[in-house]
Amino acid sequence: MTDTRPWRKLYKTARWRAVRERQLSEHPLCEWCLEREEITEANEVHHRIAHKGDLDLFWSGPFLSTCKACHSSRGQREDAGQTVVAYGADGWPI
Ligand SMILES: [Zn+2]
Repeated sequence: MTDTRPWRKLYKTARWRAVRERQLSEHPLCEWCLEREEITEANEVHHRIAHKGDLDLFWSGPFLSTCKACHSSRGQREDAGQTVVAYGADGWPI
């Protein structure tokens, strides 16, 4: 998959690393795993609102802590504008 999104390079900046470190220290667990009552250490930061290149949203959030697995399966689909249905521990959609 070729990624030509212009903001992609922002993820390599020291500023983004600082934002990421702060988010993960304040919210160290994957919030999507927690919805399923699973405890997983978060190591990635997802934008709760798709920023689509909006720099205010990109730098200021709101953010959500996720693990790599959740981020790649659910986060990318949300970024693509698709509706994601998640199921809770009781089997009902969240
Ligand atoms: Zn997760």
